[in-house]
Amino acid sequence: MTAGDAKEAFRKNESGKRLSSIIANDYLTLHQRASEGAFVVWIAIIVPAEIFAGFDNVVYAVPESHAALCAGKGAGTVLCEKAEASGYSADLCSYARIDIGTVLGGGADSPTFGLPKPDLLVSNNNNCSLLVKWFDVHHRTWGVPHFVLDIPFCYENQGADDFAYIMAQFGGLIRTIEGLSGQKFNIDRAREAVRLSSLALQEWRRFLSFASHRPSGITAFDSFVQMAPILTSRGTGQLVEHFRLLADETKEQVENGIFPVPQERYRLLWDNIAPWHQLRKMSARLKHLGANITSASYTYCIGALEGRYEAYGYDGGDPLAWLARLQNFSVCPHGLNLRSKAMKEVIERNAIDGVVFASNRSCKVYSLMQMDQMKRIREELDIPCVMIDVDHADERKYSEEAAFTRLEALLEMIDAGRA
Ligand code: SF4
Repeated sequence: MTAGDAKEAFRKNESGKRLSSIIANDYLTLHQRASEGAFVVWIAIIVPAEIFAGFDNVVYAVPESHAALCAGKGAGTVLCEKAEASGYSADLCSYARIDIGTVLGGGADSPTFGLPKPDLLVSNNNNCSLLVKWFDVHHRTWGVPHFVLDIPFCYENQGADDFAYIMAQFGGLIRTIEGLSGQKFNIDRAREAVRLSSLALQEWRRFLSFASHRPSGITAFDSFVQMAPILTSRGTGQLVEHFRLLADETKEQVENGIFPVPQERYRLLWDNIAPWHQLRKMSARLKHLGANITSASYTYCIGALEGRYEAYGYDGGDPLAWLARLQNFSVCPHGLNLRSKAMKEVIERNAIDGVVFASNRSCKVYSLMQMDQMKRIREELDIPCVMIDVDHADERKYSEEAAFTRLEALLEMIDAGRA
């Protein structure tokens, strides 16, 4: 092992070890509290989990996040196949197939033994309508109530009517949980969770900011992995502490000249969900080529609003209002203008040389606009772009050689532009 390898190993060990223990502990606690009688809610990633902190004994699980973990641990294919064997189409989102396969198999093959059975399902149609149908499968199978948050699309900034509509639905969700669980909502507890989430997201943005250093202090793969506790520990002091340490460690490494791709010749941006089954392989092969995917639209949108880059901070006011505004953070429901606005800012801030548009077989809503977006970025910023085919969680729909043929072509285009 060279000195450089040793330094990199240190980097992975410190933040990686802490992350592994947070995730393991979060799933363990979830199962334990559910077995002790907590009211269990399954939610879509956009549903504001801080609301549940306003109750004495409500816990939440995120099937999309669990599916990503299964894919990252190599269980994606076997769980997809279980759903397909029961008649679910292989064209459905692989997160849905993994989750349905997990339920059909009683938690076997899942690294967390699945998720505890829910008392309430809360989906959200802001990202995609497939998710509502997917949660309806569980609603029909178990007879568990399904609350759908109807969130307006975000082609422009959120309007006053949209905001009022979302707030009214949050009120409906709170009353529904009160009615089903017999527990009373306490807004001050939700306020504290929101305050902690806002602090954690500020630290998250500080961690991402090291992508502007040359060489970059991070890779997008680090951000894909490290975003996991946003979905399992939202609204907790643990999340603030983890992201603060992560940002501090990254700062220290940059100051000490420790970089994930020390011989960085190409600085790339990734558009779409992470290829969970390829993180290690793809980052290692890119590193060998001197390329670093430093930034990703999937992670730079977290905590910011409507195509902006800066985090949307909490001012100490109505915590539900902050959560309602943040319903417009994710990229999927953004119109082309908002997507382009954020991407252009990141390309400039982080001195990006080329963009990888990962057309995702599962996530049509993320992928549909990519051709137009690619055209716009090429024409307006004059930087090389490629489109590759992936599936975020179903490895059978990804060809490493086909993807790298195009990635290497992208690096050649960047070289040609420099000549
Ligand atoms: S299709 Fe995309 S937005 Fe919908 S559940 Fe799958 S990953 Fe999420």
